[in-house]
Amino acid sequence: MSGDRHAVVLGAGVAGLLAARVLSERFSRVTILERDTLDGAEPRRGVPQARHIHGLLDRGRTDIEQLIPTFTADMAGRGATISEVLVGTRWYAGGLRVAPTPTGLTSVLATRPLLESVLREHVLARPGVRLRERTVARGPVGDARRVTAVDVDGENRTVTADLVVDATGRASRATEWLLDLGVRPPHEERREVDLGYTSRLYRHRPGQLGGHGAVVVSTGTDGRGGGAIRVEGDRWQVTLAGMLGDHPPTDPHGFARFAASLPTPDLYDIVSAGEPLDEPTPYRFRSAVRRRFDRLTAPAGFLVLGDALCSFNPLYAQGMTVAAQQALILRDCLDADDAALPSRFYAAATECLTPAWQLASAADLAHPGITGTRTLRSRLTNAYLARTHRAAHVDPRVARTLLRVVNLVEPSAALAHPRTAYRIAQRGELFPSPASRQPARR
Ligand SMILES: Cc1cc2nc3c(=O)[nH]c(=O)nc-3n(C[C@H](O)[C@H](O)[C@H](O)COP(=O)(O)OP(=O)(O)OC[C@H]3O[C@@H](n4cnc5c(N)ncnc54)[C@H](O)[C@@H]3O)c2cc1C
Repeated sequence: MSGDRHAVVLGAGVAGLLAARVLSERFSRVTILERDTLDGAEPRRGVPQARHIHGLLDRGRTDIEQLIPTFTADMAGRGATISEVLVGTRWYAGGLRVAPTPTGLTSVLATRPLLESVLREHVLARPGVRLRERTVARGPVGDARRVTAVDVDGENRTVTADLVVDATGRASRATEWLLDLGVRPPHEERREVDLGYTSRLYRHRPGQLGGHGAVVVSTGTDGRGGGAIRVEGDRWQVTLAGMLGDHPPTDPHGFARFAASLPTPDLYDIVSAGEPLDEPTPYRFRSAVRRRFDRLTAPAGFLVLGDALCSFNPLYAQGMTVAAQQALILRDCLDADDAALPSRFYAAATECLTPAWQLASAADLAHPGITGTRTLRSRLTNAYLARTHRAAHVDPRVARTLLRVVNLVEPSAALAHPRTAYRIAQRGELFPSPASRQPARR
């Protein structure tokens, strides 16, 4: 650590906390500015998505453990359910149950507020890290070449910094802020999905769901899906999802009917027999957005990461994992001199963002109503994926590879490996198209 260097992180969400953890290795002072009051493990205003299921992919879990080695154990100690991804969870893809088989992957099933509070405890215990709550960042101070401070609401209006990191999430104003400094805005890639989530908590009873800790129903061609995970406090968190405006209702009867329309009765069984612990809560997600900061000359002393850089369709549970990947990338880039840091960081971040974005885009484009260019390649990919889902229903090896790809542990090319491709070709034909199958209940 050289001299008295100060980094300021805007936003104490998952991306901001993990960035602060990494920065504390190189900066003598790290200040996190957060708009909300952070009180225990409760949902809060600045992170409305926290009331909905937050699945952590195994890649994200192991990346977090590179920064916080006791993360999984700490989550277990606070009541999270830790289980083998396919053995402990009922997974449905393309309307069919993925064969339950060991994958070598671990699920940490908990609410997002619990996960965030465990990260926060670790990060704030680091030397030099300080949190300023109820503090709204108003934008970086400097010019098109260098940022030197950040403006904040309140008495102490300007906080000087050697590095300012914007981790304010999906609603980040980084584009406008940079425009004010004379930097042209980044190109934005968007995928309109008009996704609606509605979630509700239920009391968990022993023996429900055959003792499994979770059920995941991937969205079918009708754009409907959902999940239930057993979270701390012996509760089920149930989230129903519908794309293209077909949003799950928030009245209890409509919520149950939506659950009944899915291709497995598992979610309906939890909803219809369960004791609800709160009211159904909606969330509307109009589009996935990727901001191409890698394609512009960004000022030194300012970085954008997490959802502010790329906000994924939440159906694929990639956001927290990609935030963890970016934190590790940031750590690798901190050796670069100040002026080179942004270009080096964005170039390296692109390497992890592009495969995740392409995986999500391909899955989105499988839904006929989603607007986007369907190349021959993307059509073939989706036909192959549908076949993979059918094969994964009967073939444990295909199931294992599929889940490892979805968890960002292996590249999607693993599904095209000749041995796997052969199994997919052989086994993917055995079952009728899921489109011809009827839902469990209407
Ligand atoms: C409905 C939904 C479901 C999701 N499900 C999953 C999932 O299953 N798995 C997964 O991995 N990801 C999921 N995600 C994505 C995940 O929430 C994010 O990718 C992840 O939390 C990283 O976000 P972040 O830290 O960049 O931003 P956020 O978590 O949004 O945090 C931003 C923080 O910045 C603060 N802030 C904002 N503006 C200011 C300001 N001006 N000054 C100071 N502070 C400010 C906010 O209060 C907040 O604390 C989901 C997202 C949504 C919308």
